[in-house]
Amino acid sequence: MAAQILDGKSLAASLRAELKHKVEALVQRGVRPGLAVILAGDDPASRVYVRNKTLAAEQVGVASSVIEFPASVTEAQLMARISALNAERSVHSILVQLPLPKGVDGARVLEAIAPEKDVDGFHEANLGALLAGRPGVVPCTPAGVMRLIAHAGVPLAGRRAVVIGRSNIVGKPLALLLLQKDATVTICHSKSSNLAEIARQADVLVAAVGRAKLVTAAMVKPGACVIDVGVNRLPDGKLAGDVDFEAVKQVAGWITPVPGGVGPMTIAMLLENCVRAASRELGS
Ligand code: NAP
Repeated sequence: MAAQILDGKSLAASLRAELKHKVEALVQRGVRPGLAVILAGDDPASRVYVRNKTLAAEQVGVASSVIEFPASVTEAQLMARISALNAERSVHSILVQLPLPKGVDGARVLEAIAPEKDVDGFHEANLGALLAGRPGVVPCTPAGVMRLIAHAGVPLAGRRAVVIGRSNIVGKPLALLLLQKDATVTICHSKSSNLAEIARQADVLVAAVGRAKLVTAAMVKPGACVIDVGVNRLPDGKLAGDVDFEAVKQVAGWITPVPGGVGPMTIAMLLENCVRAASRELGS
């Protein structure tokens, strides 16, 4: 039997509708959530991502502004602007679009954001809170994956989860979130031996690598939940994930499509983090 498709697009749409109501309620109490996005350089993909995020923000009533800098911007200039945004009351959330231009230390720039305004959850204080199991801002893509899994009712407690990819923004935080839900978690990466063998043991298999068709049907345990975080541009211009979707959907129990799976959930979680940051102003 073919896998159940985890439709991130429709779940994200219903989450956005709920968030719109929450924003209306906040506005009635005198607070409109504000998102400031820093876009440095002229990477065309970054420009598209920023446009998608700010458009989605406006649609739920979050006031967004994009602050652009040329590729020649210095770390000091970015940090000065972030420091001013940290102090601005109408800005509840700050997002620095990555990658930053060459010569700018992205990690240092991200650390300049006040942790409570760090809407992406990339600040070390937020990543540390996640590690320690304390409240903080959870990175959007891992949060979106967890929401998709929960919505589908995929069991996690006591199950084996394998995350392929160990980046600070996807793989590692996602592994921690799965661990919080009592899964037995293995993280794989480019130096892992026996990737296929490890993947085949997973009840929940997540691919967050950036290599089309890395996960084949032979790597998937029958009935497993397969989450495809990867986004790859194929030579014909189409988008594809890291999973061989057509083959794997014949084996898996659940599977996310690309596009329309994790991507829309990432944006929904970004908006949720914005709304939560603004709610804190009212102490709720
Ligand atoms: P990243 O920082 O480049 O990390 C990729 C990870 O994959 C690394 O840990 C790397 O291992 C591992 N890897 C590379 N080749 C491998 C192989 N052959 N076998 C096993 N592991 C391998 O990427 P990222 O930022 O985490 O993003 C991963 C993918 O998700 C990308 O396609 C990105 O575009 C996509 N993404 C999607 C969303 C969304 O909303 N849908 C959001 C964020 C990212 P090493 O650590 O050993 O190098």
